[in-house]
Amino acid sequence: MQSQLRAGIFSWLLVLTCIIVVVGFAGDAFNARQASEGGPSGSLRVPPTAAGTSSAKPSNTSSATGTSSPSGTPTRSTPSSTSSSAQGPSSHPATPSSGSSSPPGTATPSNSSASNSPSAEPGGTFPEVPADYVLPAIHDGMVPVLTKVPTKQKIVFLTIDDGANKTQQQIDLLKSNNIKATLFLAQLFILNNPDYFKGFLAEGSKIENHSISHPLNLIKLPHGLQKKEICQMSDYEQQQYGRRPVFFRPPGGPYTLSLRKVAAQCGIKAIVDWNVEVRAGRVNYQEGKSLTPGDIVLMHFRKEFPQDLQAFLTAQRAAGLKVVLLEDFLAVS
Ligand SMILES: [Zn+2]
Repeated sequence: MQSQLRAGIFSWLLVLTCIIVVVGFAGDAFNARQASEGGPSGSLRVPPTAAGTSSAKPSNTSSATGTSSPSGTPTRSTPSSTSSSAQGPSSHPATPSSGSSSPPGTATPSNSSASNSPSAEPGGTFPEVPADYVLPAIHDGMVPVLTKVPTKQKIVFLTIDDGANKTQQQIDLLKSNNIKATLFLAQLFILNNPDYFKGFLAEGSKIENHSISHPLNLIKLPHGLQKKEICQMSDYEQQQYGRRPVFFRPPGGPYTLSLRKVAAQCGIKAIVDWNVEVRAGRVNYQEGKSLTPGDIVLMHFRKEFPQDLQAFLTAQRAAGLKVVLLEDFLAVS
């Protein structure tokens, strides 16, 4: 009887342990499955997995984040906008810092970003301006032509033509504003007092070639006369100022292939025209409504010189550009 009782208890115990073991395994398995699926305890694990997906595939999510979650944009939109090229900086003028740091990578959009971000301290100090454009060499016997310098640097070039009006005030104004300009002089206008222009040379400006007699029909003249107009003026300026001109500006601006050849024969390195003109105290743009990097501005030695220079300076400062000497930037002596 006792043995039966013992055996009975033992068997019950056995069954009980079996039940406990089986239930234990089942529970573990259940927990394990829940863990892998992020089940009930998922409320704690969701953040890490969410973070994992967003950081693991930024390239995939970058396009999605831009459209889907405006709440996440403050941090994510900046990198994606810089990597997604042109539209970024122009459509988001609020992020000028990222735009201004990207010029080394992006070429053309920097123009728009530069013009959109005059907030880059126009009054601040300008460090050295690295040259990002090289003047093309003479090709097929023809000099290159510039109407604007294709640069991303925040610079503008001032050129002053003819030389008819000669006052000390003009020299003083360039000096007091610390501006060097390229002077395209025609002998016709300066013959009565060529020494006057040495006052500009002393302050760093350069004198270039604008022909002997300022013929507005230069391109229609025979080859011999074209050559005389350009070569003789270069000879004259070399004698007068001790430096042979490297630039020629045709009177009125027009040029032809043959004129480019004649210029090369006279030792000229480039024909320089312009894309902005200051006249009667007003700035006239061929394109747009403000100065942009690389613009070549035309002025004249006229009675309105002070007003013209003031108009130029106002536009230059508003655009946040530095006035740089064309010969310096192109590294031609
Ligand atoms: Zn002229």
